[in-house]
Amino acid sequence: MKKHKFTCPSCSKTYEIKTYNTGTNDVMELFCDYCGATLNLDLYDRRVLELDKKYREYSKEYFAEIESILNPCECGGRFRFDAPPRCKFCRAVVDLEEIKRQINWWGSKDGRPGLIMSRSAPASKAWRKIAKRDKSA
Ligand SMILES: [Zn+2]
Ligand SMILES: [Zn+2]
Repeated sequence: MKKHKFTCPSCSKTYEIKTYNTGTNDVMELFCDYCGATLNLDLYDRRVLELDKKYREYSKEYFAEIESILNPCECGGRFRFDAPPRCKFCRAVVDLEEIKRQINWWGSKDGRPGLIMSRSAPASKAWRKIAKRDKSA
C-alpha cells in the first residue's frame, strides 16, 4: 500500500489517497457509487469461486451477479465494478487520468492501480446473507 498526496480538481482539497496492487493481493475492486468507498473482494472467496465456475470468464453478467449479492454500502450507495473514483469530500467523480498524473503512475495505458480514495469498506460485511432453507417444515 502506497500513500500519495492528491488534490481534488473539483473542491481543491488536498488529502491522502492510497494505491495498491490488485494482482498481488488477489482481490477484485469495486467502488461505492455514492461515497466512493473501496470494497475488495477476495478472489478465493467461496461465492466468487462458485461464479467463476458458472461463468468461466469475466462478463457483464458475471459482474452483475456479484453486484446483486452484495450488501449496500454503509452510506446507502451500491458497490459497482464500473463506478468511477470519487472525491471523499465533495463526492465529485474524479477522472482516472487526473489521478494517474498526480500520483505519477506509469503502468499500462488502460490499466490502473488499486485505489482507496476515501476508506476501505469491510469485506466481512460485503456479502448479503442468504436465508437458509427451513428444514423443519
Ligand atoms: Zn473534491
Ligand atoms: Zn458508500
